[in-house]
Amino acid sequence: MSEITRDVAIVGAGAAGLTAANDLRKAGLSVVVLEARERVGGRLWTEEIDGAMLELGGQWVSPDQHALIETLADLGLETYERYRDGDSVYVGPNGEARRFRGEMFPVAPETERVIDEITERLDAMVAEIDPDRPWAHERAAEWDAISWDAWLRQQTDDDEAVRNLAFATGSAMLTKPTHSFSLLQSLLMAASAGSYSHLVDADFILDKRVVGGLQQVPLRLAERLGEDVLLNQPVRTIEYTDAGAVLRTDEVTVRARRVVLAVAPVLYNRITFVPPLPRLKHQMHQHFSMGFVIKVHAVYDRPFWREQGLSGTAFSPYELSHEAYDNTNHEDERGTLVAFVSDRTADDLFRLSADERRERILESLSHYYGPQAKEPIVYYESDWGSEEWTRGAYAASFDLGGLTRYGADQLELVDPLHVACSDLAGLGYQHVDGAIRMGHRVADEILAAERA
Ligand code: FAD
Repeated sequence: MSEITRDVAIVGAGAAGLTAANDLRKAGLSVVVLEARERVGGRLWTEEIDGAMLELGGQWVSPDQHALIETLADLGLETYERYRDGDSVYVGPNGEARRFRGEMFPVAPETERVIDEITERLDAMVAEIDPDRPWAHERAAEWDAISWDAWLRQQTDDDEAVRNLAFATGSAMLTKPTHSFSLLQSLLMAASAGSYSHLVDADFILDKRVVGGLQQVPLRLAERLGEDVLLNQPVRTIEYTDAGAVLRTDEVTVRARRVVLAVAPVLYNRITFVPPLPRLKHQMHQHFSMGFVIKVHAVYDRPFWREQGLSGTAFSPYELSHEAYDNTNHEDERGTLVAFVSDRTADDLFRLSADERRERILESLSHYYGPQAKEPIVYYESDWGSEEWTRGAYAASFDLGGLTRYGADQLELVDPLHVACSDLAGLGYQHVDGAIRMGHRVADEILAAERA
């Protein structure tokens, strides 16, 4: 058992933990980052599978994600635009695939009017929400007590409008059934991206990718820290007093004045705290849960859909795979589609064999792109639900009522323990941008505490 002493020990080498470690190091403090896995990056993972470079976790960058964009510039990483020329595809309730251009997809004029009207209402509500303090809105308690689905169904009885409005924050973002989280949670998701309209605009929210993959962010941040990042070191126990903490993995003991828990909040309970965390924290942490989505990668010898004038952008609240995009790598001759299967549909698929699952998913893709979609040369499903050190995708959020009951306390743990994670962010909530913002924030918090 080796022993290390540092000013700050950081648990987790994701974007949040590594950002904090770099900031603290720059400010003159000594740090160590303890990472459970054999790699850095957490939910950022770029891997070669059967000869294809795939983004198994986070990948897209949107223009409002200034913290991430600044980090990319600092690390010398280049971005490129997602392919988007041509027609998008929408599959309606009758199963018919219809092409469209522009922002509004092909629905009946009355449904379009309802969608526009509710979108306007949502944008106005979102404009009043401070993403750092959604619980502070005067109607927060009311909006946190009603599910997203129930609120939408109060606005209209047009089922197609409800399904399409619901899935922007449901299947596509929080990746939980829309009856299981609140209207306020939905408004926070939208406020963290600037507006509800931003969230439903794929050209905005899924704008760019990083040449070589987004995992280069944590890889390069870790490179700067050199031997102060220790892999294969799940932190098992943290003993703490006002004066400092002792962290134990199976191989290393670290003594530090301060600790940053840079892990998803659903994983705090994997660590034994001595003394136990305060009552409110024990309660609060049980009200976070991970969403669940399967990210499907299908690589073809060429991007065949482009030959048919399709952009690759496709969605439908009636399809097994509710959204799919052209995900062809920079300067790659082959074509890649990425598709998503969310929440209960994903649960159901994992009850099938791998072959049946693949068949069902590719069948769904063929509804958007035609029969050629059924013949990929590389096929892979990212399954974050079976990853011990993540346990779901994309991120953790509160259950119904949790935001107003606990949100105001979520960034405070107990001295000398601090927290940082994308799942606790305001701007960039549940995104890499939010993880980086949380990393900077916790470093500032620690530096202020050290100066006090
Ligand atoms: P994490 O990345 O989860 O890092 C936490 C780290 O802590 C992990 O490395 C974990 O192994 C480690 N750890 C956990 N417990 C312990 C322990 N006890 N001891 C030591 N180490 C521990 N975001 C976007 O911005 N754009 C996207 O396109 C996008 N797509 C996504 C697609 C998928 C499939 C997924 C899963 C996520 C996606 N996200 C996306 C979300 C984004 O990846 C995350 O919000 C972000 O990477 C989280 O960073 P983090 O540092 O907060 O947490």
